[in-house]
Amino acid sequence: MKPARVRFAPSPTGHMHLGSARTALYDFLFAKKIGGQFVLRIEDTDQKRFQEGAEQELIDGLHWLGLEWDEGPDKGGPYGPYRQSERKVIYQEFARKLIENGHAYYCFCTPERLQQVRETQMQNKQQSRYDGFCRDIPLEIADKRIINGESHVVRFRTPVEGFTTVTDLLRGDIIVENKNLDDYIIVKSDGLALYHLAAVIDDHLMEITHVLRGSEWLPTFPLHGLIHRAFGWQEPIWVHLSVFLKPSGKGKMSKREAADLVKDGKSIFVKELKNLGYLPEAVNNWVALMGWSYDDHTEFFSMEELIEKFSLEKLNPSPAAINFSKLDHFNGLHIRNLSIDELVFRLSPVFEEAGYIIYPDKLKRIAPIIQERLQTLDDAIALAGFFFKEDVYIQKSDLVMKNMTTEEIYSLLKEILTILSGMKSMEKEIVEPALRECVVQTGFKPAQVFGLLRIAITGLVVSPPLMESLEIIGKEKVIERVKKALDILSDKL
Ligand code: GLU
Repeated sequence: MKPARVRFAPSPTGHMHLGSARTALYDFLFAKKIGGQFVLRIEDTDQKRFQEGAEQELIDGLHWLGLEWDEGPDKGGPYGPYRQSERKVIYQEFARKLIENGHAYYCFCTPERLQQVRETQMQNKQQSRYDGFCRDIPLEIADKRIINGESHVVRFRTPVEGFTTVTDLLRGDIIVENKNLDDYIIVKSDGLALYHLAAVIDDHLMEITHVLRGSEWLPTFPLHGLIHRAFGWQEPIWVHLSVFLKPSGKGKMSKREAADLVKDGKSIFVKELKNLGYLPEAVNNWVALMGWSYDDHTEFFSMEELIEKFSLEKLNPSPAAINFSKLDHFNGLHIRNLSIDELVFRLSPVFEEAGYIIYPDKLKRIAPIIQERLQTLDDAIALAGFFFKEDVYIQKSDLVMKNMTTEEIYSLLKEILTILSGMKSMEKEIVEPALRECVVQTGFKPAQVFGLLRIAITGLVVSPPLMESLEIIGKEKVIERVKKALDILSDKL
């Protein structure tokens, strides 16, 4: 296969969401798979929607996901600049070429006139479209009006009759009647090119071979094809990706619904997914399968496997519902797939951000006993925070074991204290047999003996394995915590 040049061309207008992550991922996978370049192009021509910090968030998001680009605003490259706001002159030159060869024209219609045209069309139940008022103004006249300072836009001269056919790799030929299209504005009155023109010019100049983008561009897809043809350029291969639906499968998620999700520990924003303790590997795996599949059963993919197995032909254009339980599932799988050192590396910042002081050696002993139990990295705080705390919070009601009186619990815990105090260390090999002996001697159930000790030293009803936990906490702290539990039981605390 010929090397590909693909581009991820986000507009810095808000938070980086799953849709962007998926487009970037597919671009990256495709470029890696068949060889070629992955280009990052920032489409920041829409000044009104521009958001400070959004470009940085995109860059951070891509780095976090491991989707490294070959050319881009920060990296440079032979086809730069890669930020559209720095390419204004290029668009102006090409717009003028289109005007001179008759494929575009200056339009001087005022907003009031356009409003009136729309109203009349509505009254007559006609489709709303520009009425062509300025289509035939000779260029010399138009140029004079511009020199005189008349406000104007540039419109594409869409053919009025016949059909336009554009081809999407997943959907095949899309045929539209030209009368249903419009003479779209391609340069605004402030002289800035609109997406339609800027993206087509850039895709051509940057020698993009495949355009992967959201299906919100399907309605104006014929225009993009027509602009390429008006310049006499070869079109890239077009791929419009599937739409994401709400988890319910009913409709697209609104901005508000997206923001509300975070309260439930879920998000469609990449930055939040990171903060919620998801691994980039899991997010990539999850997102990859929202619109692509390898076969009907393989679900777990590392990045290497995705690169090896990815193909455009297996993309699916049908809408995909966002399924957060799947993300949890993948996250658990990818956490278990990490080496202990890698897990320690991922967990350290999570603990630190939660205010814990971390001892790497200790975390290295903890990681293997919690790895199986983590669904997100953040779960480690609730599950293993007690290892790093000076003191654990114990609720008296948790110490009260089923079918035991407070006196029985107290004397059992006292017995446990005596046993543990007599040991030189908390090594599993000596502690476990001694506690089993205690079960036999006292006649209580193992669940009662171990359960009581578990709560006393961890403060948790469900914790990592007890014996390993005792070893990591160490004798001094274990004794201290058991004593404190005794005080709580006897209401001294
Ligand atoms: N700037 C466009 C967007 O963010 C990019 C569309 C494309 O990839 O061509 O939607």
